Amino acid sequence: MAGYTSQTKKYLQSVAHSKEWWTDSYTIGDTVPVSGIYKCQGCNKEITSNEGDPFPPQNKHQHTVLQGEVVWKLIVRTDTKGDNFGIK
Ligand SMILES: [Zn+2]
Repeated sequence: MAGYTSQTKKYLQSVAHSKEWWTDSYTIGDTVPVSGIYKCQGCNKEITSNEGDPFPPQNKHQHTVLQGEVVWKLIVRTDTKGDNFGIK
């Protein structure tokens, strides 16, 4: 689970989940839609990924049979432009 301290909590905010990157799932080789922290639903590992890069290839993220499919979900989006995603 992504972590923060009482001192860094102020840098996190809840945002509307209407954008597809909050609801879509991604797998090996898919293109990262927005920069942020992604959590694998199979093994619970988290990665930071940059918009436009591919998600990790199979040889960099392997699962046991029990862990099933590699399914990445966005859990924290990073504000790479520093404009609060255009939200006032
Ligand atoms: Zn995984």
